[in-house]
Amino acid sequence: MQRQVHILHGVPASAGIAIGYAVVLDTRKIERYPKIRITSALVEDETKRFHDAVSASKKQIIEAIRELENHNVVKEHAFILETHLMMLSDPALTGRVEQLISEENINAEWALKIALGEIEKDFESIGDEYIKSRVDDTTFVGERLLRNLIGKKMSGFHLLENSVIIAHDLSPTDTAMMNKEKVLGFATDVGGLTSHTSIIAHSLEMPAVVGLKNASSIVSPGDKVIVDGISGLVIVNPSESQVSEYEQRARSYLSLELKLKEKAKSPAITKDGKYVKIKGNLEFKEEVKTVLDHGAEGIGLYRTEFLYLNRNRIPCEEDHFEAYKAVVEAVSPYNTVIRTLDLGGDKFYSSLGELKNEMNPVMGLRAIRLCLREVEIFKVQLRGILRASHYGNTSIMFPMISGMEELLRAKEVLEETKDDLRKQGIPFDENIPVGIMVEVPSAATIADILATEVDFFSIGTNDLIQYALAIDRKNEYVNYLYEPLHPAVLRLIKFTIDAAHNSGIPVSMCGEMAGRVIYTPILLGMGIDTLSTNAFSISHVKEMARKLNIEKCRQLAENLFQIKTAQEIYDFINREIVDKSPDICALL
Ligand code: PEP
Ligand code: MG
Repeated sequence: MQRQVHILHGVPASAGIAIGYAVVLDTRKIERYPKIRITSALVEDETKRFHDAVSASKKQIIEAIRELENHNVVKEHAFILETHLMMLSDPALTGRVEQLISEENINAEWALKIALGEIEKDFESIGDEYIKSRVDDTTFVGERLLRNLIGKKMSGFHLLENSVIIAHDLSPTDTAMMNKEKVLGFATDVGGLTSHTSIIAHSLEMPAVVGLKNASSIVSPGDKVIVDGISGLVIVNPSESQVSEYEQRARSYLSLELKLKEKAKSPAITKDGKYVKIKGNLEFKEEVKTVLDHGAEGIGLYRTEFLYLNRNRIPCEEDHFEAYKAVVEAVSPYNTVIRTLDLGGDKFYSSLGELKNEMNPVMGLRAIRLCLREVEIFKVQLRGILRASHYGNTSIMFPMISGMEELLRAKEVLEETKDDLRKQGIPFDENIPVGIMVEVPSAATIADILATEVDFFSIGTNDLIQYALAIDRKNEYVNYLYEPLHPAVLRLIKFTIDAAHNSGIPVSMCGEMAGRVIYTPILLGMGIDTLSTNAFSISHVKEMARKLNIEKCRQLAENLFQIKTAQEIYDFINREIVDKSPDICALL
């Protein structure tokens, strides 16, 4: 039978190309499970059945943690799984199931579903007091238990060589369990760049595409599949010529990676001698070594919100201090920009009940707005940052600043915190630089005013583009409009850079745009001082900068503003820069 060719588009979650045979995992939530009333005589047996499922689930998770350790994946990722392990020993879940079995005389599956429903409801009723833990984690643990109870295997990890995993969703445990010798890559229907699954795939350096919507229903077991984690494509049952094209691409990708890794730690100096600083973005303190090994000259964005996730209490001052000190010490003498909490919005599903109910969370109580409302929680973090600044080169950055009042209030809280530390005789860097993310269009358009109050800017294009073009990045119907080269976006960026320089302050970019080499010529041409990107893009951006002539980039940038559409701008960059250099072509 001729297998049908399909090309599926998703989100490139982890770079690289995998060509192999599909193993389709049944990871959809189990909707149908037995609901049975039992006699009192059966309560003991039913409880034992439940305990066996708990033990089996624990064993599977411990195995997954070992897999992660074998691959030297950062501790924080194993910590996600340890949280799952803890849930399996938590009487709030296990005790409640036992109680329901014995008091209501119902079978274990039914009791488990009721107990999980109660816990999820509790999450919903949490006020904005503390972040408990993620609802997703409860769901993953519940699903594992349920599958073990009804004897349905969670995932068939007894794999043949050259497997490509296709699933509706993968839990962090599933991802961690993937045997790197056999699994070449994976693709899922759901998920985004910031989901834990993508983060673990990155750490395992395994090509992955997520958010494909219906891959698990389209792909059949045994289908040949190409997972292109660079451009976010999955090709099902490719033609012979597509396979050889992608084999060639995979070879070029690997040899380029190898070449770039060798040069990663050398500085990026353009052909005409301008040094371009390239920094790294960081989510977990454990990733700092990876980011530095990839050639980062400092941390341009430390996203501290991950400290707040996956724990059953809000981080205390010591948690903050310990995490930041470890990073700052490892990165010094280079600088670390610690961004204050940016929870909320659609990026991380927050357990803060109040946020959950917002009609439009991306425009709601997010980031600095949340911090200025919860000043005490904010001050705990600021104390941690300030104390860490005593141990190395540190800067503070406020996210989502939209106007002057907000900035002044944030600075006021910072000053109050400094005063408290002074009174207590606790040392910190008195001259710690303070900057802001420019990621709200209103901030970009008053960048000249804001520049008088800060020591640096960092342009957050992920949000700036979303807000400037009025498109919800997560909305599949409009995300085709998400366009970094939109003339409006480029004007906002240019105005921000010029405003910073007119006030004598440096300006960096830390959104995804900074890590895409096609944009490097125009960003350097517009005068950006520093680019900060994920570990895996650092060596690419450095290499791109080495191949450019800054003067040519300036001319290119000047001419951009006459052009009317993103597509024409894209064509112009290709014509003027890319097509003229085969070296540059190879990098794209
Ligand atoms: C941005 O908005 O560009 C940014 C870097 O911040 P985040 O992706 O964390 O929202
Ligand atoms: Mg942002």
